[in-house]
Amino acid sequence: TTTTTPRSFEADVAKLLHMMVHSVYSDKDVFLRELISNAADACEKLRYEGLSNASLLGDDGQPRITVTLDAEARRLTIEDNGIGMSEDELGEALGTIARSGTKAFMDRIAGAKDAEGSQLIGQFGVGFYSAFMVADQVEVTSRRAGADTAALWLSDGQGTYTIEPVDIAEAPARGTRVLLHLKEDATGYTDAFTIERTIKAQSGHVPVPIFLEDAPDAEPKQIADGAALWTKPKAEISPEDYTDFYRSVAGQFDAPALTLHYRAEGMHEYTVLAFIPETKPFDLFDPDRAGRMKLYVRRVFITDEAEILPRYLRFVRGLVDSSDLPLNVSREMIQDSPVLAAIQKSVSNRVLSELDKLAANDTERYLTLWDTFGAVLKEGLYEDYSRRDALLGLARFKTTTSNGAWRSLKDYAADLKDNQTAVYYALGPDLDRLASSPQLEGFRARGIEVLLLSDHVDSFWAAAGMDFDGKPFKSVTQGLADLSLIALPEGTEPTPAASETVNDFIAFVKTTLGDAVSDVRVSERLTESAVCLVAPENGMDRQLEKLLAGAGR
Ligand code: ADP
Ligand code: MG
Repeated sequence: TTTTTPRSFEADVAKLLHMMVHSVYSDKDVFLRELISNAADACEKLRYEGLSNASLLGDDGQPRITVTLDAEARRLTIEDNGIGMSEDELGEALGTIARSGTKAFMDRIAGAKDAEGSQLIGQFGVGFYSAFMVADQVEVTSRRAGADTAALWLSDGQGTYTIEPVDIAEAPARGTRVLLHLKEDATGYTDAFTIERTIKAQSGHVPVPIFLEDAPDAEPKQIADGAALWTKPKAEISPEDYTDFYRSVAGQFDAPALTLHYRAEGMHEYTVLAFIPETKPFDLFDPDRAGRMKLYVRRVFITDEAEILPRYLRFVRGLVDSSDLPLNVSREMIQDSPVLAAIQKSVSNRVLSELDKLAANDTERYLTLWDTFGAVLKEGLYEDYSRRDALLGLARFKTTTSNGAWRSLKDYAADLKDNQTAVYYALGPDLDRLASSPQLEGFRARGIEVLLLSDHVDSFWAAAGMDFDGKPFKSVTQGLADLSLIALPEGTEPTPAASETVNDFIAFVKTTLGDAVSDVRVSERLTESAVCLVAPENGMDRQLEKLLAGAGR
């Protein structure tokens, strides 16, 4: 035999591995979920490739994951009969991290607390390497579907790994075997009861059946049926089933705040199972983050890049399983399919209408959800003209008169003052400072409600020139605020007409400031403060101006 030269892990992997090897995270069980999810992904990839190349399946068309325990030798093995990896693919997949999220992961995990750390591992898709939390040596033997060679990847997680060809007799007939030599303190993972319970809880709903052998060559026992949860009748699915499934598709450990499960019939037939998480995914504002809805065709996983929902619904997790897309369509062609376009449209509308229903029927839960995802939904106000009205209906705001409570635009419109012709808003990064801004004095004196907008996204949609119920949105810092038409409460002194002294003073200020300002005027908007800065009537809002200046434009 020849000796194989050890190869070095990519720097980021080495760092990551160091963290895994010296991991202090109590919840090490996630390694099982990660390895099983890789095995299931491999089976789904084979199912997909098998559509156009049936010979890959050979005489074994039944996907299967087998977990084998060996207490005596302190080993745990996870084997699948999925797509497998060639020698080259082993090196690419298990020596590098292709994902751009890794750096972000490192930064986050450095400051993460114990429990949060394990969650982050799952969320960032650094799955395979979590094996080194429990193993001091990992062997991956793989044979790609259709290949007549096999290879072995071997590492102790200490900076290097080796890859060498192995005899096909030592490899699975097809697919991958991951063999963990468990650390001394991880012997609990050879206990059949623990493993069965953990797998059922974490991976009970992966779309591939799972078998457990509690000793080498023991009778395999099926512990998960691989039945697609979404194909079952709703009445047979418990809330726990939904939560478990949500966790396995979302890679999060919270519970769904909203579950949507229905079958569409008519023009197109498809099943939708979608969830809105309770908590913010870490990468919600990562520009690279795509939607996370998976597309299946008759239970075969096709792609998670079909962008079933618009960007501003990217927090929704789940899947659509279509009955009438052709199975043999390529991923590229699917993007242009009119069937997919119809699905995209109707699922997006359905998500919005379910949110609307929730807002009406369970206000408290809706407001929590809005608090978490409202800033993302508001992106739709300028990105999706066709659903703008629906989104304006869903939007909630803190206002100058709401005392910290959320108000809808309908609430706002119901409380308009006589002669009020606009929806007024104030923009700024900080709600408290906003609320005490001198710009608002004239509004407050007249009892006019002003929306307080403090999300980054607000500057963009608010300036897009839209209206609600025929009332344009208008910034309080922009131009003349037409407040003179709206009555002050009884007993309040109106602002006296500008005297000659004031006019002289204004002329003086104008000459002094010169080109630095475009105008200086007497204003109705102040009641206590002496001056405030406003943007020109047709110019940019001051907050947007600041943002753009900050962005270097
Ligand atoms: P992710 O699953 O998010 O891509 P992982 O670290 O879990 O990240 O896995 C890295 C890569 O290794 C996978 O993308 C896949 O290409 C490959 N891989 C891991 N396990 C298997 C397996 N059982 N069969 C085939 N390929 C696998
Ligand atoms: Mg994985």
